[in-house]
Amino acid sequence: MALANCSRCGTLFLMQYDKHCKSCSEAVKQDAHKVKEYLASHPWASLMEVYHKTGVSLETIYGLMERKRSAL
Ligand SMILES: [Zn+2]
Repeated sequence: MALANCSRCGTLFLMQYDKHCKSCSEAVKQDAHKVKEYLASHPWASLMEVYHKTGVSLETIYGLMERKRSAL
């Protein structure tokens, strides 16, 4: 374990499992859920389309889509 700055809000926190503080990791989980739901019904949606429809940050969506496509 080490102290780190949250990569989302910059808060100093005790890093255990991920690079986000506790409140951000909840928010990130919810964002991920929104993006996954949208992609489940719109599998070929573009990055910008997902961004406009879900309101999730482009960085988050990009990370999620990369993971999804590399898993195919
Ligand atoms: Zn944070």
